Amino acid sequence: MKTIHGVKGFHDVVPQQSERFTDIEGRLRAVLAAYNYGEIRTPIAERTELFARSLGETTDIVEKEMYTFDDRDGTSLTLRPEGTAAVVRAALEAGLAQREQVAKLWYLGPMFRRERPQKGRLRQFHQVGAEVIGRDDPLADAEVVTLLVDCLRACGLEAAELLINSLGDAACRPAYRAALAAYGRAHVDVLCANCRQRLDRNPLRLLDCKEEGCRRVMADAPLVRDHLCDPCRAHFAEVERLLRAAEVPFRVEPRLVRGLDYYVRTAFEVLAGNLGAQNAVGGGGRYDGLVAELGGPPLAGIGFAIGLERVLLATAASGFQPPAPEVDVIPLSTAATAAAVRLTRRLRDLGMRCELEAAGRSVKSAMRRADKLAVRFAVLIGEDELRAGRATVRDLRRQADHRLALAVDDDGPELVETLRTLGVAGGSHG
Ligand code: AMP
Repeated sequence: MKTIHGVKGFHDVVPQQSERFTDIEGRLRAVLAAYNYGEIRTPIAERTELFARSLGETTDIVEKEMYTFDDRDGTSLTLRPEGTAAVVRAALEAGLAQREQVAKLWYLGPMFRRERPQKGRLRQFHQVGAEVIGRDDPLADAEVVTLLVDCLRACGLEAAELLINSLGDAACRPAYRAALAAYGRAHVDVLCANCRQRLDRNPLRLLDCKEEGCRRVMADAPLVRDHLCDPCRAHFAEVERLLRAAEVPFRVEPRLVRGLDYYVRTAFEVLAGNLGAQNAVGGGGRYDGLVAELGGPPLAGIGFAIGLERVLLATAASGFQPPAPEVDVIPLSTAATAAAVRLTRRLRDLGMRCELEAAGRSVKSAMRRADKLAVRFAVLIGEDELRAGRATVRDLRRQADHRLALAVDDDGPELVETLRTLGVAGGSHG
């Protein structure tokens, strides 16, 4: 029979990787809790119009990267390409986004974009993101950026570089957009086909193009900072001041733009040095018009998303040790299985990470396997042990044997206790 393969750009997460995922997620949860954000879980599918309306019809995502399909009743649905639009929708529906009330939310889950897969770029990938809805003050910007930096730091990415910029707002951006489009038109013969298309529809993206020719031309393009209105300029200056106060290192990158239309004012991105072309590990920005655009009150908002696969790639060399089992229980014959099963269940109840081996291997091969598992203790139960009512507990770290009573469930919890005192951690629910 022909093997069925997984879908291109959709990856499995197998043990070792999944343990690293869980480890990173735990670190992120701890930071998000310290900042007092509440977790929100939204479905992976939304009505297509949610993304079309919020991200902008002319963005790469909406134009060519969304997984869109008709439900059986004809409703057009899309697998979410990002988290913010869905979080805003859900917050509005749950009554969390209201005047006089600030919603601080975070999410974790898979996102879907039909991009060309390469290192660090998948079609299904995972993001952890945070959103603050209902604050337009620069302190909110500084806190969200600091949260992003602290999240990455908790994952071991202290060295990643934070770039920030202001994109202006509805008052000043149109004039900048026009200036940029005019500059692009004056150099249209050097621009790539993609950028020519962007000229009229989304000229800000000219700054984002990776083509060598475009980059060279855009190096002299007008900068948004020379077009900011006074309120945007003051806002950005205050964000910079507060980031310095928080001791967060950053670099102002006047050419930083973001892929989505809804961003205004503060935009930011964090780059990791060791990732090659896809080097952004996280990014975000302010989206003050989005809540109203989605039918809610005129509330400001700001947020970011971190790409978990990229965090894992960037920290791959960090020497993460997946947890090894603590105890390997080895019934040396089928007669020993009942005692082994009972003992293993008791140890697992206490939260110890245990392996239970198939019955009937030789001591030698069982010990080889215990070595390979890197367990601390091998518990051998054979004919002798059954007769004596005592298991052999081999401490592989100290190369010492103990003979301990097997009766663990009623009057003699000696073995369990001894394993505990010898240093098996176990969980807290014992
Ligand atoms: P964005 O929503 O495009 O700002 O992306 C936020 C973060 O998600 C990026 O900085 C990346 O770390 C990650 N990311 C975005 N697109 C992909 C992708 N196709 N594959 C893997 N990670 C991605």
